[in-house]
Amino acid sequence: MGAALINFSCLSDELVMKGKLLSSEPMAAHTSWRVGGPADNYYVPVDLEDLSMFLAELCVDEQIFWLGLGSNILVRDGGIRGTVIAAKGVLNEMVMKALGMKVGAGLTCAKAARFSARNGKSGAEFLAGIPGTIGGALTMNAGAFGSEMWNIVSSVETINRQGELRVRSAADFETSYRFVNIANDEWFISANLILADEDIGEARFNIRELLAQRAASQPIGELSCGSVFRNPEGDFAARLIESCGLKGMSIGAAKVSEKHANFIINSGSANAADIEELILHIKKVVLEQCQVDLQTEVRIVGEAL
Ligand SMILES: Cc1cc2nc3c(=O)[nH]c(=O)nc-3n(C[C@H](O)[C@H](O)[C@H](O)COP(=O)(O)OP(=O)(O)OC[C@H]3O[C@@H](n4cnc5c(N)ncnc54)[C@H](O)[C@@H]3O)c2cc1C
Repeated sequence: MGAALINFSCLSDELVMKGKLLSSEPMAAHTSWRVGGPADNYYVPVDLEDLSMFLAELCVDEQIFWLGLGSNILVRDGGIRGTVIAAKGVLNEMVMKALGMKVGAGLTCAKAARFSARNGKSGAEFLAGIPGTIGGALTMNAGAFGSEMWNIVSSVETINRQGELRVRSAADFETSYRFVNIANDEWFISANLILADEDIGEARFNIRELLAQRAASQPIGELSCGSVFRNPEGDFAARLIESCGLKGMSIGAAKVSEKHANFIINSGSANAADIEELILHIKKVVLEQCQVDLQTEVRIVGEAL
């Protein structure tokens, strides 16, 4: 990638950028719902050193939004002000270690799961069907089939907006269901995972089984962000939504999945406003009929038009 061609007043002229800096980049191209307006600036670093230099040179008041694979965000139609950092496919280290493996934040969860199985390890199989990056899985404490990300993390490497790297133990973080308390201006670069020994064939079989279970219960292949709402304590958001008769309901081209009521599908031409309106409608109906105040798991970001 060559030096950036656009004039970005937030960076000094002396910075030799090796990555790609785009302006007004449509976020719809980078989210699994295929909706979202433009990001003012969108930076794709070439490597960690380049990323670190870029961050260090950004104005202190520039808003930064870190993007994984965009599989758990609803970007509003007005887009994102400030700079999006897109490290997917860049920070993609995967190395076996004595007790497990080290994985980069830009690596896909699917690749990490397959790499682990190939090397005769178990514990990371649940990641196989989560269509995000390791960075996104760390931030969301992503989970499935009774496992979750921070159960297998021993330490992480992070970067701050000065471009400084730190190694932190898992014990430095508070984690719970779909939550980790990382600071606003600090992002994940890599993680060390603790894994158990496993027969390679068995680990691969486990992955196939989990993917089959997912395909049977979720609308895989359609445009969604996975579960829209967090499961309330002791219950399931999908059960509540279905019990209110909302399966199949649509606003514009945004529709509650017939297969899994906690999924909202973009059937092609939905915009973010349609999806957000449907989310608010579901919340209202479930509150009225079930007295449960559903909270979104998906992160809603950016500006409305
Ligand atoms: C079909 C489908 C099935 C799904 N199934 C599951 C499931 O079983 N379990 C589950 O938990 N989720 C599931 N999801 C949701 C989603 O895939 C996960 O939340 C995933 O971890 C998000 O990763 P991402 O890279 O796409 O993150 P993004 O959506 O890009 O970002 C999510 C959040 O993480 C932040 N972020 C991303 N990378 C970093 C980083 N390196 N450092 C700091 N912050 C960062 C972003 O700023 C944003 O706030 C599913 C989604 C889909 C579409």
